[in-house]
Amino acid sequence: MKNVISAVCVHCGHEVEATPTTYTCPKCGGIMDIKYDYKYIREHLTKEKLADRKDPSIWRFKEFLPVAEDLNYPKLRVGGSPLYKADRLAEELGVKTLYIKDDGINPTASLKDRASALAVAKAYEAGMDTIACSSTGNAASSLAGNAAAAGFKTYIFVPSRAPKGKVSQLMIFGANVVSVQGSYEDTFRLSAEAIERWGWYNRNAAINPYLMEGKKTVSLEIAEQLDFDMPDYIALSVGDGCTIGGVWKGLKDLYEAGFIDKLPRLISVQSTGCYPINRAIQENAPWRPMEENTIADSIAVGVPRNPDKALNAIRESNGIAVNVTDEEILSAMRLLGRTCGVFGEPAGVTGTAGLKKALEEGLIPRDASVVSIVTGNGLKDTANAIKAAGEPISIPADMNLLLKAFQEKGFDLK
Ligand SMILES: *Cc1c(COP(=O)(O)O)cnc(C)c1O
Ligand SMILES: [Zn+2]
Repeated sequence: MKNVISAVCVHCGHEVEATPTTYTCPKCGGIMDIKYDYKYIREHLTKEKLADRKDPSIWRFKEFLPVAEDLNYPKLRVGGSPLYKADRLAEELGVKTLYIKDDGINPTASLKDRASALAVAKAYEAGMDTIACSSTGNAASSLAGNAAAAGFKTYIFVPSRAPKGKVSQLMIFGANVVSVQGSYEDTFRLSAEAIERWGWYNRNAAINPYLMEGKKTVSLEIAEQLDFDMPDYIALSVGDGCTIGGVWKGLKDLYEAGFIDKLPRLISVQSTGCYPINRAIQENAPWRPMEENTIADSIAVGVPRNPDKALNAIRESNGIAVNVTDEEILSAMRLLGRTCGVFGEPAGVTGTAGLKKALEEGLIPRDASVVSIVTGNGLKDTANAIKAAGEPISIPADMNLLLKAFQEKGFDLK
């Protein structure tokens, strides 16, 4: 890895060699960040060179990624998700320029595939054959899928509240799944003990610094898709804080390597039922645990695993913290579906719900340009989708009943 200098502790600054099994800081237990040689990146990658690459996946950015040159195992196609110019939604929300980055189209249908692809790569480099994690659901299904493609065994711990769609993915991908009757915090703790005991490769968020390096590829893609002309804001949902930390790391890497000359401000969106990170921003105080009280299961994280990097990202970017209700999340599901044809899970659309609120409350100007990231696909959680959108017209196959039903609905048909 000629492009990587070291791993640096974000807490105490201690620097170590970045090996595949570099997890937390050996000195203070803090979370590590991968440090790059930006001069090397500048010398080996240009915008033109990037444009010529045919691989649409995250590996097109290999100069920005902490992996060996050739990783020869079967991979899912992670990344390369579309960035839609969402003019109709922009008009409804009352904002000048809006793009939707639909990360729900990833192979296992969430942004987490970006992190899991890196976890599998590092486990491969480390010569290990078993990977484990705990997750609210999507990290689990993405690890299970990416590991299955590459031929790795997985042990996966999810809280029992995880939606059926996500659990079914785990089972289909052949993971060894433990559904823990308890909170995400309980689940995380049990997985940590098991990983320690059996020595599996650790894909737990915030423990493993390479995961964020995978997540940052969403920023690299947004930049390339916008021809390196960055928006004023990027809105996204926040749970553990790894995604927003990764988005910020990607932006900073691009900036340091001379690919962009403007850093967007981040809009961190959480649920009013669980917002420990946003509360720390709003009160300018250390974060404290909270109840996990929201339908957006992927961001129902009362004890965030990566608060330091998340808080750094929001503060350094001069960002904004917005909390939305479950009602506002369900409404954003309908809105994105109706105006963009994009179907997000509750946590997937929470960023867009927060953008709507930020505009209504005048937290950001109407003439702004914004990218809203949809982090997960709605088919993972059909129960909440039906809750958001309601049931269809249900009648026997009879034209008179159809006419009557249309009349009742007030459809204007000639
Ligand atoms: C995991 C996840 C998030 C939040 O990411 P964190 O790294 O936990 O902050 C948001 N949306 C979806 C769909 C997720 O799966
Ligand atoms: Zn340290």
